[in-house]
Amino acid sequence: MSFSDLGLVPELLRAVADKGYDVPSPIQLQAIPAVLAGRDVLAGAQTGTGKTAGFVLPILQKLAASAAVRAPRALVLTPTRELAAQVAQSARDYGKYLPLRVMQVFGGVNINPQISGLRNGCDILVATPGRLLDLAQQRAVDLSGVSILVLDEADRMLDMGFIHDIKRVIKLLPPRRQNLLFSATYSDDIRGLAERLLNNPLSIQVAPRNAPIELVEQCAYRVPKDQKRHLLVHLIKDGGWHQVLIFTRTKHGANRLSQQIEGAGIPASAIHGNKSQAARVKALDMFKRGQITALVATEVAARGLDIKELPQVVNYELPNVPEDYVHRIGRTGRAGSLGRAVSLVSSDENALLRDIERLLKRTIPVLPTPAFVQAPDAPRPAQDRSADSHGGSQAHGARRPQSGQSHGARSGERRHWNNADSRQAHSRRQRSR
Ligand code: AMP
Repeated sequence: MSFSDLGLVPELLRAVADKGYDVPSPIQLQAIPAVLAGRDVLAGAQTGTGKTAGFVLPILQKLAASAAVRAPRALVLTPTRELAAQVAQSARDYGKYLPLRVMQVFGGVNINPQISGLRNGCDILVATPGRLLDLAQQRAVDLSGVSILVLDEADRMLDMGFIHDIKRVIKLLPPRRQNLLFSATYSDDIRGLAERLLNNPLSIQVAPRNAPIELVEQCAYRVPKDQKRHLLVHLIKDGGWHQVLIFTRTKHGANRLSQQIEGAGIPASAIHGNKSQAARVKALDMFKRGQITALVATEVAARGLDIKELPQVVNYELPNVPEDYVHRIGRTGRAGSLGRAVSLVSSDENALLRDIERLLKRTIPVLPTPAFVQAPDAPRPAQDRSADSHGGSQAHGARRPQSGQSHGARSGERRHWNNADSRQAHSRRQRSR
């Protein structure tokens, strides 16, 4: 089946062809006709399935067919600013041959340009809930004309505590409207929200519930916590990885690790909620362009990032919530390309690994940990190398440990070979006692 079989207008077919899409993805096949027909939709779909076009294309078509007003007629709520920016960009790309205006609003940036932008009117508004409520409170946005509401990555919005904000936003909308809810996972909270929000919805499930996409090859290495960074550096260098997204649990941890691996000669940057929007966009852009090899991210910051054909994801620390593992590895193996997800598991994370395996209903193969050099951390250069001031490829000056060299040339530096396998065997022995 092709896009033209889905009943899309020529302007959208042209835009889709410009994007180079040949055939609709499974979610698009089901969602596009349903949304065009005016149905509510409950879709279990992860990022990477083509879900954005699944709701944006029919929304554009419906809005183009009805009379414009100044106020938004479709509202898309997203958990993060990155996802809001991506969805808005997709809507602009797909709608480029239609006379429709798309706006994005999210926190972390000056509200005033958003207020004046909204004054000029828009058809589709993509927003994070908090900023949208701020704008509504300042009477800068009129939501009374919204006829289609999309909750994108609804599970993540609930995880981030947005449920009250979402309820407040819904109160500002007209009661008669079409509702579309997209979620990668189904918790009881999501089911409850769907029951309250959706009217006789079409349920679409494009990947097995709570299961990672098939295309991701998963494995784990056991390694003591304090040696994870050395193993990581080894894996990146030895594997010739050129683009790797690394997850840490905390913002501080993301910063520190980004500095450590950059100190080992791998161009890197961190992306998390404490970074300014400009810094996050810049880091992501550099990563996409291949100017940095590693992007170290927290869970929330990485949600919805659309990085084409990302080959490698590393769970530097396992997530506390097993569903987050699914989201994380969904960053790779996207749109038909093969990806690899590697987890570095320290002994205190065994229970987390078991939870993940229980959720996946499969074991994650633990590979023999390769021998790696415990390289000393290079001192940070005086100039900050964060995304705010990153000047491009920064790989120089790193001290590559020499094979077989057991002591650093300078006093105070220690280099030695480390084989975590022996530690692993040791800890297995300990556990079996
Ligand atoms: P999404 O799940 O919406 O984030 O989309 C994931 C990626 O798939 C994006 O890079 C889209 O540009 C791409 N994509 C969406 N639909 C198609 C399609 N029908 N064929 C090929 N790529 C697509």
